[in-house]
Amino acid sequence: MDFALTDELEDLLERTQSLMTEAVYPVEAEALRSFESALPALLEAREAVKAAGLWAPQMPRELGGMGLGFLDHAVMSEVLGKSPLGHFVFGCQAPDAGNQEILLEFGTDAQKAEWLAPLVRGDIRSCFGMTEPDRAGSSPTWLDTRALRDGDHYVIDGHKWFTTGAHGAALCIVMAVTNPDAPPHLRASQLLVPTDTPGFEHVRRTPVMGDEGFGWSSHSEIRLTGCRVPVSNRLGAEGAGFLIAQARLGPGRIHHCMRWLGICERAFELMCERAATREIAPGKPLATRQVVQHWIADSRAEIDAARLSVRHAAWKIDAEGARAARQEISCIKFLVAGTLQRVVDRALQVHGGLGMTDYTPLAWFYRHERAARIYDGADEVHKSVVARRELERFGFDVRAGRSAPE
Ligand SMILES: Cc1cc2nc3c(=O)[nH]c(=O)nc-3n(C[C@H](O)[C@H](O)[C@H](O)COP(=O)(O)OP(=O)(O)OC[C@H]3O[C@@H](n4cnc5c(N)ncnc54)[C@H](O)[C@@H]3O)c2cc1C
Repeated sequence: MDFALTDELEDLLERTQSLMTEAVYPVEAEALRSFESALPALLEAREAVKAAGLWAPQMPRELGGMGLGFLDHAVMSEVLGKSPLGHFVFGCQAPDAGNQEILLEFGTDAQKAEWLAPLVRGDIRSCFGMTEPDRAGSSPTWLDTRALRDGDHYVIDGHKWFTTGAHGAALCIVMAVTNPDAPPHLRASQLLVPTDTPGFEHVRRTPVMGDEGFGWSSHSEIRLTGCRVPVSNRLGAEGAGFLIAQARLGPGRIHHCMRWLGICERAFELMCERAATREIAPGKPLATRQVVQHWIADSRAEIDAARLSVRHAAWKIDAEGARAARQEISCIKFLVAGTLQRVVDRALQVHGGLGMTDYTPLAWFYRHERAARIYDGADEVHKSVVARRELERFGFDVRAGRSAPE
């Protein structure tokens, strides 16, 4: 296992960091006041990224991306994660990046021409609608949304929420039950639903800790009422919705975790800068206090340990495949989400009242990234899965609540 970065990758990271400093950080203050009013500046920054050849790192070159392998993209994702704006400006924000990946892998030529090409160019945006207000997202196979066959169309009825980026999106990939009598994991399909389809209603942006967000940085409630799409809008085979979702799970989680580590590093930098400069008495900066030193030391150790765990999981996916790395993939989800929460909290505390304002990105991280412990599988679900697999090795069957018979 070799975690050394190639010279080429080091160079890419340096160019990425320079562009973050020149084109992204200067827009942050405006964006933290209003993402809407910062949009023109963000679109300008996107042009600078395209001109520098750093656009859409995860997509193949022939589609206009950089064609990076998943490990290199993961490392770049950490640098982009240092700002709430990084992934959007570089054309790889969630959920568009994941949607592009599944369209690339499972889409027909016609679907790719209609949706993938404009998505990769950044001309349109997309969203992914799976979670429903009336069903526990932690039991993802339990969905009320139905897509019934009517000739060569599906008619979709359902209610979704937390559909990230739906506000202003042109396409929603909707997870709907098409085969209610099949085994749970084979009941749902993924359907490409243009958001101007009659019956597709954007109900509202759901406020998240007081902030309803805007565009790509918001989470919406959606209603589908008699929404008709041709059968040719189905992604992959009928009933393959969860298999497609699973296919992007391993690499997708590595990217989430690396983005979270970027947030940790930014919060850490802000914490150290503030500790070194904020005097609590003449000539006595905060950094002279042992409690602050310990927050810095704990944060450094936790971030580095988390990063090594993520890179180990990524290495295992690459070497042995996502299935063999299931345990590592589950572990990094809650390990990094917890690290993120602790590091951002300490950085905010060191800033005192300033930490509560939007004059630094810390309050934004605090508001929005608390959700890291909830989405992509709630931490508790992952912990249960990890414990179940570990206990199995000791002959204990968690589901049965007892040791397996000899
Ligand atoms: C910011 C944000 C963005 C999101 N974006 C999207 C999106 O783009 N598309 C989409 O479809 N969904 C999205 N989601 C939804 C997300 O996937 C769900 O919130 C998540 O799966 C949890 O489902 P739930 O909210 O229904 O919580 P529930 O399933 O009701 O769970 C509530 C809590 O119960 C506990 N719990 C649940 N199961 C267990 C268990 N087995 N053992 C112990 N404890 C348990 C956990 O603490 C959990 O937090 C987003 C959510 C957030 C917060």
